[in-house]
Amino acid sequence: MPATLVTPHAVPPALIELENLSSAERSVALYVSDMPDRYRYRRGDDARLESWIIQGATRLGLETLYRLAALKSGYQLAWVEKCTTAEQERAHAERFPKAVRLRRAGELASLISLRTDMSEEAKERGCRPQFDGGCPTCNGTGQVWERWIEPGCDWYEAGYRPCWLCPGPVVPARTVAVAA
Ligand SMILES: [Zn+2]
Repeated sequence: MPATLVTPHAVPPALIELENLSSAERSVALYVSDMPDRYRYRRGDDARLESWIIQGATRLGLETLYRLAALKSGYQLAWVEKCTTAEQERAHAERFPKAVRLRRAGELASLISLRTDMSEEAKERGCRPQFDGGCPTCNGTGQVWERWIEPGCDWYEAGYRPCWLCPGPVVPARTVAVAA
């Protein structure tokens, strides 16, 4: 009997579908795919882009893809709010050394996302950014101390409010069902 590479415990490769990937996941998958650095989009290229996304997702594996995409989203959120930490800057640059390629991958992923559906699970993951070293504004507690003035009042109120940067304390990632 010929030797086989397939062990009884081998997990069959997950069937990865574009619809089950968030926009950030699509862009990270494109980044690690064979897409040429100088690729220029042409009308009718959607199937090509989709195959690169699936290739990149397969290459990374879903768990790694989810994590990288969540960290990329967290970095971008913090960048927009001008509160990235040194740890985030370093880790982001290490993960994605080709900044131009990453930006391009993001633009192309957005383009594809305009035209394809996204599953509810993928949308939900897209709303859960992660941060190197924890959320830079609340340190992972999910709330920040703030002072504010209620309309019509001339004194400050102060208290904890939900963190505006992160979705709150990190909960364990939900198991994502994939078609076998
Ligand atoms: Zn936070």
